[in-house]
Amino acid sequence: MVSFKCKMCGYCCTRYWIPITHLDMLRLVIYGNVEVSNAIELKNAKIYHSKKFPKIKLRRGEYYLALREKKGSNSCIFLTDDGRCSVHEYKPLTCRFYPFVYIVQKDGTIKISINEKAINECPGIILDNKPVDRDIVNSLTRLARVRLIELDLYRNLVNEWNSELNGPFSRARDFIEYALDVAKRHKKNLEEKGMWIK
Ligand code: SF4
Ligand code: SF4
Repeated sequence: MVSFKCKMCGYCCTRYWIPITHLDMLRLVIYGNVEVSNAIELKNAKIYHSKKFPKIKLRRGEYYLALREKKGSNSCIFLTDDGRCSVHEYKPLTCRFYPFVYIVQKDGTIKISINEKAINECPGIILDNKPVDRDIVNSLTRLARVRLIELDLYRNLVNEWNSELNGPFSRARDFIEYALDVAKRHKKNLEEKGMWIK
């Protein structure tokens, strides 16, 4: 079906906006010492759309937590001039799947397949009628399990925020502070269950 070897061209990091969870944000902060105000922003849900990520209610409308782009370009803030990811080891989970996707099947099993949209975009994909490499399938299946848990935790966090009396009347930085606080607790719980990933 397909082989894949990333060419590190950086194309995918200029093509899409990257929604993140509170735990993606925490990884960037603790492992990359990332300054949140420089790298993360709240994107207006009137312009950006996501089926998987919840909308955060704030004083001025509804938003998604996301990575910033570099000024004047569509490139992710973490993309270096030579096309590399400067936070590769702890990058958001969304980035780690491309050019693959995971699908949760009716019986709960996870299927890994190529992202159809990526076929004409990503030069690392070779259509060769071979099955997806076993190592890729195994590591992305494990990642998908973690991802599903993290997304659930994040959705609960946002639901709580949206239904709190003050949440929807607060500013972006109040949400970020709250999300980081909850993320530290969730990290501890995940570590205890052996489900925390760098
Ligand atoms: S577009 Fe494909 S080859 Fe290029 S950096 Fe992204 S995953 Fe790698
Ligand atoms: S975090 Fe890294 S992999 Fe993800 S979009 Fe930015 S540069 Fe690309």
